[in-house]
Amino acid sequence: MQIEAAVFGPYATNCYFVWEDPGQALLIDAGFLPGGIARTAKERSLEVCAILITHGHGDHIIGAEQLRKAFACPLYYPEGDLPLATGSFIGESYEAPQPTKLLRGGEHLSLGGMEIDVLYVPGHSPGHIAYRIGDDLFSGDCLFRGGIGRFDLEGSDEVALQRSLAQLVALGDDVRVHPGHGPATTIGRERRENPFLQV
Ligand SMILES: [Zn+2]
Repeated sequence: MQIEAAVFGPYATNCYFVWEDPGQALLIDAGFLPGGIARTAKERSLEVCAILITHGHGDHIIGAEQLRKAFACPLYYPEGDLPLATGSFIGESYEAPQPTKLLRGGEHLSLGGMEIDVLYVPGHSPGHIAYRIGDDLFSGDCLFRGGIGRFDLEGSDEVALQRSLAQLVALGDDVRVHPGHGPATTIGRERRENPFLQV
C-alpha cells in the first residue's frame, strides 16, 4: 500500500492519497485548494475511487464537494459532524459537502482493494472518526506527533478525547499514525514520548 500526503492551505492540512492500485486510490480528507489536490492526483496518475472525511472542520472538508464531483466518486462523512458542514468556515464560504454515506464508527469498508476499519474517536469534534487500514491509522485531528487535538473548540469534549486517545493507544505500538497535521509517527513513539498521553 502506498501513502502520499498532499499538504495545502493555511493550516497545512494533510490530505492523504492511499492506494494499492493507482486506478482506485482513496483520498482521506479534502481541505483547502481542491485544485491543488486534484493536480497532485493527476501528476501521480491516481484515479480517486472514494473520499473519506475524518471530521467536519473546514480545513478538512472545504474541497470535499468540489472533489466529489471532479472525481465522480462517493464521499464518506462522519454523521456526528453533519452540523459542521455548513458551507462556511472562518468567514470563507465553500460548497457544503453532500455525503454519499454517513459513518459513525464500527463500520468496515472494502474500497480500492483495501480493507478499512472505521473508529469512532470523538472529542476534538463530536463525530470525529479515524480510518485504520492494516497497521496504518489515519487519525485526523485526534492524535498528532507530540500533541493531541484541540478540545477548546465549539463541540469539543476533553473527556471524550481522552477516551478516544486511550482507544488509539490500545491499537498497539507498531501502528503507524498519519495525522491531520504534521509528520507521521507510531503509537509506540507517542505512548513513550507524547506528553499528553502520560497519565
Ligand atoms: Zn479539526
